[in-house]
Amino acid sequence: MKLTFLGCGDGFSVEQGHNSALLTFGNTNLCIDFPESNHTALHQMGKKLNEVEHVFVTHLHEDHINGLAKLALFHRVYPGKIKPKLYVPAGLLADLWQVLRHGLELTMRGKRVLEDYFDVECVENVIEIAGERFELIRTQHVPDMLSYGLLCKPYFYFSGDTRLDETFLGEVAGEVQTIFHECHMQEDQLPSHTSLEELLTLPVTIQEKMLLMHYVDDYVLADAREQVHGKHKVRLAEPLRVYEW
Ligand SMILES: [Zn+2]
Ligand SMILES: [Zn+2]
Repeated sequence: MKLTFLGCGDGFSVEQGHNSALLTFGNTNLCIDFPESNHTALHQMGKKLNEVEHVFVTHLHEDHINGLAKLALFHRVYPGKIKPKLYVPAGLLADLWQVLRHGLELTMRGKRVLEDYFDVECVENVIEIAGERFELIRTQHVPDMLSYGLLCKPYFYFSGDTRLDETFLGEVAGEVQTIFHECHMQEDQLPSHTSLEELLTLPVTIQEKMLLMHYVDDYVLADAREQVHGKHKVRLAEPLRVYEW
């Protein structure tokens, strides 16, 4: 199992791409979220959009889904090995189509629906692909908004966007080797996200497993990340770096 960050940036990032990761395993791949910046990151990896085989949507904030329409259209114009499979948490599907339909519904060959572009699977709890199991974990991002992280034992937990859930982190830390956790890395507390200050209240054994993502562009340079690493046990994830188990 390998995970490559296509972007570690927050919703306003212009230098490093919005937060998304490409998992490769068992001769296939799964992309967690699909911001528009993924196109550039995949190009830098020597990959085309039509090589993306599975996509999971954590939630519907714009910086996590604003590349999906382009991905859909690219696969239609340049078909890949398979029709891409889109995993959408139950409860988000209708709203996702409302976002995407303006660019995808009307075509030269008539009206289209999401299923014309993707093999769509509405997910309740678990995604199974090529023998790997990914559990959906409901996160605490914005009240009443559906948002999810992804748990892939025994490898990792990927938080998606969330506020700190120390109870869950305490439970999951013993089950995985790595915790990819969002952290805005700004002085001001963003109420729907997690701050470094909050993460530093966790037991050190949990902090040691943490790679932080969804951070501001101030940390795009290695020197800035190293300064954090010099002071704390947590690490900042790096764009295009491969993490492997
Ligand atoms: Zn976000
Ligand atoms: Zn969000």
